[in-house]
Amino acid sequence: MKEIKKELIEEIENIVGKGNIRTDNLENTLYSYDASMSRAMPYGIIHFTDINQISPVVKILYKNGIPFSPRAAGTNLSGGTINLKGGFIFNLARLDKIHQIDTLNKVAVVEPGVINLKLQEELAKFGFFYAPDPASQKVSTIGGNIAENAGGPQCLKYGVTSDNLIKIEVVLPDGTEEEFSINDKGFEIMSIFPQSEGTLGIIKKAWLKILPIPHFTKTISANFDSIDNAINRVTEIISNGIIPKTLEAIDRLSIEAAQKDVGLKIPENVQAILIIEIDSEDENDIEKEKNKIMEILKDKTIEVKIAKDEKERELLWKLRKEAYPALARISPNVLVEDGAVPRPKLTEVLKEVKEILSSYKLKAGIVFHAGDGNIHPNIIFDERDLEETKRVRKAGHEILKACINAG
Ligand SMILES: Cc1cc2nc3c(=O)[nH]c(=O)nc-3n(C[C@H](O)[C@H](O)[C@H](O)COP(=O)(O)OP(=O)(O)OC[C@H]3O[C@@H](n4cnc5c(N)ncnc54)[C@H](O)[C@@H]3O)c2cc1C
Repeated sequence: MKEIKKELIEEIENIVGKGNIRTDNLENTLYSYDASMSRAMPYGIIHFTDINQISPVVKILYKNGIPFSPRAAGTNLSGGTINLKGGFIFNLARLDKIHQIDTLNKVAVVEPGVINLKLQEELAKFGFFYAPDPASQKVSTIGGNIAENAGGPQCLKYGVTSDNLIKIEVVLPDGTEEEFSINDKGFEIMSIFPQSEGTLGIIKKAWLKILPIPHFTKTISANFDSIDNAINRVTEIISNGIIPKTLEAIDRLSIEAAQKDVGLKIPENVQAILIIEIDSEDENDIEKEKNKIMEILKDKTIEVKIAKDEKERELLWKLRKEAYPALARISPNVLVEDGAVPRPKLTEVLKEVKEILSSYKLKAGIVFHAGDGNIHPNIIFDERDLEETKRVRKAGHEILKACINAG
């Protein structure tokens, strides 16, 4: 990479403020990794505190041919915030203003660093929600969610990020500012910008679709003797014309990791838990759907529970939500793999995933957004063991290849 002159640093510092451009080793190390297995030291970090600082800084770096990458919470699994060519990392996490919640037009206007869960909490005060709810929502940001086109449990019914986006204001790689909207004619930029992982430009502001929280919700938790049994019920539920809000499955290792933290003791014969949530504006409709689901589950489960109130609902969800943090607590490192396969192929791919893990002598807790065929093998390992880390990389690669081969 080109030498970076002191004058250039000063020019940027004049825009972002003193202390907001850092090139010291400690700061660079903190930003040298994300949730993937990639690592690389950047030249420096630029912390933004105002969305209007982005364009002038990009213009300077572009003119001088210096690479840069946007970064928010760093939870991406694809090395998207790792600068292999050095250059600067833009920390956008402090751009966290919610500009507007407009319940009449069902839109929220936010800056990119707003944390997904924080937005949900603010919307809930008005009886609204934002559909994309990645499992990382406690820390991941709207900017990162858009750039990765994130999905989550309730996206089965309500769509992924790009389905819930109205307009974005962006800074292009040369520093020019542009606005793209779903109403634009011509090229469908709005279908490629979300998921471009920061390579097409930096999202400065976003207009998001928000929805009223349906009046009726039912949460069902079903314990199964095998993960295959759980997945087959998912297929049956959907083929009966029911599109639940969520259809989430977790395997035995994830249950074992999480149950202690949640204060539960799940019997050993329970190999998988399926959490099914349905919602509706109509009480009769939801009752009918619930009855149909109970009929499908009849004689196929070890136990079925229906949450009686919000407290019980939260308890049923807690085990699923604790699955990843609990694995991270029992092991120094967790590699979250993320593959999507056609739903009917889930059991077949799962068998292959288990064979791959066993051939590399590795363990993984497996969680599924089962409704849309999304499988997350969370491989536990110790990065300090270089030989084990090598096996994890190889296994991760083979798992994703198996998902691709499944279509
Ligand atoms: C435990 C765990 C669970 C997860 N669960 C899910 C899940 O359920 N569903 C799912 O889809 N993903 C999931 N992920 C992946 C990850 O959380 C998502 O990709 C998330 O959207 C990333 O948000 P972030 O704020 O961490 O972004 P970062 O990781 O900081 O950035 C992600 C990408 O976006 C770019 N970027 C960041 N901000 C901007 C911006 N303002 N403009 C343009 N580009 C930008 C970055 O350059 C990078 O390429 C999970 C990850 C972990 C570790």
